[in-house]
Amino acid sequence: MVGWVGVDGARPNATHCALAELERAGKVDLLITQNVDRLHQKAGSQRVVDLHGRLDQVMCLICGEQESRKSFQTRLLQANPFVTDYQHIARPDGDADVPDTYVEKTTIPQCELCGGVVMPDVVFFGGTVPRARVEACTESLASAGGLLVVGSSLQVYSGFRFCRVAEKLRIPIVIVNEGETRADDMATFKVEQSAMNRLVAAIDQIIPSQESKSA
Ligand SMILES: [Zn+2]
Repeated sequence: MVGWVGVDGARPNATHCALAELERAGKVDLLITQNVDRLHQKAGSQRVVDLHGRLDQVMCLICGEQESRKSFQTRLLQANPFVTDYQHIARPDGDADVPDTYVEKTTIPQCELCGGVVMPDVVFFGGTVPRARVEACTESLASAGGLLVVGSSLQVYSGFRFCRVAEKLRIPIVIVNEGETRADDMATFKVEQSAMNRLVAAIDQIIPSQESKSA
């Protein structure tokens, strides 16, 4: 309830935009993300699988009814008016530290259809990614010319599994990441993120960007 404000207000960065641009250029068929912040969609990517779900939606554990987080947040704040103006330090994962007394006082609204317990529509640690979601990714990968991994150490198996599939199908794997990943020894090509940033900056200096070209 407190941390959602920061997540809702977050904006895509240069990498989100670059990946959306690659899709528009026909170079990316499917973007599989382990993030739950919907920033790829905000950047303009159309074909995205939110592998671990999405924070902008809540789901009923009993009947499966989905509700937008915006609507649920309104209900949360109505039920807990003492939280509205709470100041906190935003964390990247959308969590927020609040006093224990807040937790004790908090009322959690129920599903509007069946009165069931509602949770964020995300896969938490220890949870399982729905099988159909994994299969859609695997199917897409089977017809792909390559697998590009950007900004992941691949420590979580749900993402790493696609590298194993690619390796099995002899599909080249290219990794752009800061530091080691679990698939370094499977990669056809690996670029350190910092090197990539320097390269992009150098290219920007030599070749005018789209905006300055059209200006
Ligand atoms: Zn329900």
